[in-house]
Amino acid sequence: MKEFKAESKRLMELMINSIYTNKEIFLREIISNASDAIDKLHYRSLTDKKLKVKKDDFAIVIKVDKEKRTLTISDNGIGMTKEELETNLGTIAKSGSFDFKEQNKKKEDIDIIGQFGVGFYSAFMVASKVEVVSKAFENEEANTWVSSGIEGYTIKKATRDNYGTDVILTIKDEEEYNRFLEEYEIRNLIKKYSDYITYPIKMEVKDDKETKLETINSLVPLWKRNKSEITEEEYNTFYADKFFDYDKPISHIHTKAEGTLEYNSLLYIPSHASYDYYSKDYEKGLQLYSNGVLIMEKCADLIPDYFSFVKGVVDSPDLSLNISREMLQQNRVLKTIATNIEKHIKNELVNMISDRREDYLKFWEAFGLQIKAGIYNSYGMDKEKLQDLLMFYSSKEDKLVTLKEYLDNNKDEKDIYYACGTTNEQIKRLPQVEALINKEKDVLLCTNYLDEFVFKIMNKFEDKEFKNVCSDNIDAETEEEKEELKKLNDEAKDLLTLMKEEIDVEDVKFTSRLTNHPVCLSTVGEISVEMEKTINAMPTNDGVNAKKVLEINAQHPIVKKLQDLYQKDKDELKKYTKVLYAQARLIEGLPIDNPTEITDLICDMLVK
Ligand code: ADP
Repeated sequence: MKEFKAESKRLMELMINSIYTNKEIFLREIISNASDAIDKLHYRSLTDKKLKVKKDDFAIVIKVDKEKRTLTISDNGIGMTKEELETNLGTIAKSGSFDFKEQNKKKEDIDIIGQFGVGFYSAFMVASKVEVVSKAFENEEANTWVSSGIEGYTIKKATRDNYGTDVILTIKDEEEYNRFLEEYEIRNLIKKYSDYITYPIKMEVKDDKETKLETINSLVPLWKRNKSEITEEEYNTFYADKFFDYDKPISHIHTKAEGTLEYNSLLYIPSHASYDYYSKDYEKGLQLYSNGVLIMEKCADLIPDYFSFVKGVVDSPDLSLNISREMLQQNRVLKTIATNIEKHIKNELVNMISDRREDYLKFWEAFGLQIKAGIYNSYGMDKEKLQDLLMFYSSKEDKLVTLKEYLDNNKDEKDIYYACGTTNEQIKRLPQVEALINKEKDVLLCTNYLDEFVFKIMNKFEDKEFKNVCSDNIDAETEEEKEELKKLNDEAKDLLTLMKEEIDVEDVKFTSRLTNHPVCLSTVGEISVEMEKTINAMPTNDGVNAKKVLEINAQHPIVKKLQDLYQKDKDELKKYTKVLYAQARLIEGLPIDNPTEITDLICDMLVK
């Protein structure tokens, strides 16, 4: 018996005692080794035409023997000599995918197994004994390498008809491992992890009469085929099978890059958000393949958070199968692919806005919030990338428009007008909004809590500023109107000051922006009424207060009434002020501090 090298021992120990739940990946690793071995022979046969190799026979064969509890994976690849068995399986061939000396926390070990697998030794997660019978190509002698664990391994002479390798796993006795002796289970694992290995993976299936070999894998993955040969149906079926979503996706984006960086990618934009999409359990990421072998189920580094709804696969021969996660994050190839993918997604969405409006609206309904959050969460840094994708409801068009469309529709306007509330109808009824709509102005009606925060962070779109119709100064009056209003306000200074003292506001003033309604509430400063509501609805709120201004319609008969009361009955004026302010708060959807007092005041006025 020979001893394993120190770091091999360490890895074996890790495998044998692994508490890692995803033990099934051992099969992927062994099949991948078999495929590599065939690749090597294949390559030699391409470079040396004299070699007698029947390429059509290349295959990986899998057999299960339930009685003996063995699972055998055979290949007719290059094989190994005695020395190669010794060096390849006795020491870790891992070319620095991670440094064992620094890896001693169990948690990290588990991560490594989960993300990358660890090659041949992963067999020890499920097998109590591993035998490797191998005959190197153009060699007469075959050998068997056997190990039952950490103590070491033996190598002795064996017989094997042809070149190639058999890996014979004696599956552990515990019940949880029984599934690795079930034909359907092995079949599923091949489909799941090794479907696109380019050599046939054949499985021995027995029925009453005979034993046959059945090819399990599809050989050429959809993403590697030519776009022109793939039907819409095939794309959709693949999506459903792979991502378990039976609603047709809105779009697929299939790209093939050749040249300095080679990769294929097939991305899908779903038609709806999955039930957990807006929860913290949702994990973004694309499936990552290296030349047809799955190396990561969800590679998060491939897509930015704001496109986290995208599903798909990326396959690149330029990525090594055993790259570690730390290295993957730094990986130049991966970064370039990620940048390209982001562009592809963005272009697809932008094109959809003009060419497939219905689909885009569906997309927007499902994932619009994610795009807004992308702008907000990046403090506006991703604004340039995302702003063309935004949509808001236009009061004039009576439908969703992009910001670009808003500008095109309102070329003469200085600013971009918006107003916030709970429903489009409620917003349209806000006195300030109604007045502007009557003047044929186009107001973006914002019903999502993020909308205003997004505008504040963007500040401008192209060269136009966002103006909240209810709080910002809207320059919609003529010079003459402005002059007249100023006069009215100046003359009523004392009256307005008295009113202001009666209620909790920054200011009380006459306005010409209202047409029919007597009062409205506006704000000054950074915080608008809608922002106050949103912030105060959060569990960690600090109780912010928007600085409110009670505006009174200068054209309304109430002005005259207030002026009269100021002369004759100041106490009555105070009551009127309270009622008018309550009215303005109600319109804005704000609570009233003392509803009993207000309703009593109204009743007093009714009985007078
Ligand atoms: P890796 O595949 O990353 O190099 P493994 O631990 O999986 O690491 O395998 C170690 C080495 O053993 C391989 O590099 C290869 O040289 C050899 N090997 C494993 N399986 C086979 C096989 N079926 N045929 C030929 N060589 C093999």
